[in-house]
Amino acid sequence: MQNSGEERRVAYVVSNELVKISSQLPSNRNRSFLVHSLVKAFGLLKPPGRDSVAGIQPLRPLPAQFKELSAYHDRDYLERLLQGEVYGATNDTQHTEYGLEEDCPAFPHLPDYVRYVAGATLAAARALKDDTADISVCWDGGRHHAQKARASGFCYVADCVLAILLLKRSLPATTERPLFRPRVMYLDFDLHFADGVSEAFYSSSKHSSSPQVLTLSIHHTAPGFFPVSHLAGLTDPQDSQFDPFTLSLPLERGASNKTFHRIWPLIEHVKDAFQPHYVVVQCGADGLSGDPYATWNWSLGGEGGMGWCVDRICHWPSRTLLLGGGGYNSPNVARAWTFLTSIALGRILPLDSDIPDHGAFPLYASSFTLDVPSGNIQDQNTDAYLERVDQVFAQVVDAIREKMRSSS
Ligand SMILES: [Zn+2]
Repeated sequence: MQNSGEERRVAYVVSNELVKISSQLPSNRNRSFLVHSLVKAFGLLKPPGRDSVAGIQPLRPLPAQFKELSAYHDRDYLERLLQGEVYGATNDTQHTEYGLEEDCPAFPHLPDYVRYVAGATLAAARALKDDTADISVCWDGGRHHAQKARASGFCYVADCVLAILLLKRSLPATTERPLFRPRVMYLDFDLHFADGVSEAFYSSSKHSSSPQVLTLSIHHTAPGFFPVSHLAGLTDPQDSQFDPFTLSLPLERGASNKTFHRIWPLIEHVKDAFQPHYVVVQCGADGLSGDPYATWNWSLGGEGGMGWCVDRICHWPSRTLLLGGGGYNSPNVARAWTFLTSIALGRILPLDSDIPDHGAFPLYASSFTLDVPSGNIQDQNTDAYLERVDQVFAQVVDAIREKMRSSS
């Protein structure tokens, strides 16, 4: 579909309302503002024009309607979430029931936040579905912990799930083509396991005559590390509950470019076996060096770096939805997602670029450059562990191929 940046149609979701509301998220206050300001300061938001074939299509999101949200979420949960007075109602047992406490507190603009973030990701997905973009970017989305009827891990709305449901929707047969049932691959780079998305689609493709959704989460897991899920460990093809379309690849502490480069062929093999029409990528930046979690040591540039991985995906023949996610060093997240935007456009910014003078400039001290280099944490992913991962994924890929063959 797209081979070079010059031929790509890239949509980018942004509006003043979205930035204002998304910047209220208690876990990432002001981060949305920093991200979009830096993307703009680097001149990446120029629309396509005669002189700039690789321009971006800005998409203004509309707040999602109740009906769109209820494509996945339970009605009772949505009613609770969207009622204006939810903020300030303390000691409410329903708050506990719906997870609206601790790391997911109700906040003054919660109903607008939920509607706008879902509306933003759905607008980005729709641009792919309607064939007006090859790559769609929505940095305010990627809330991969939200559940059907419960907020979790700073996530209130399951926009990733809603986007996958939209993308997988069948197109009826016409005189020109038969019924089309698109396949969607969800790939998650966030430091934390994509429990909300993995659990939403667990076993759905395994038991379907036409597998449509595959999820692959690459993350860190350890006893007590959020989130706790029976699916967060290394996928086990010998387990009776094994589903070759719900995949988990945990990495040890200190995961660096070297480890990502080492596992990359596995990701390609999974993609080749499944042959997705759409790829949804959750680009959580909390695994980058400098994040307060200080767990991985991933960097932005270089072979195996976050940019290198996303650039590879942008060259796949599928249509791509790039979503945000975690990331708690906001200037570094802005650096990362600005760099990835330039990759989507095929106009890759040099990582030694100076941060342009703009309102948030002082926050980029002390380097004042775009790069997020690696730090000092040692990579604990041993050869022995990565060889085991290789063996597991060889079996996984065989199982995907087998299921695809029998369903075609
Ligand atoms: Zn995370």
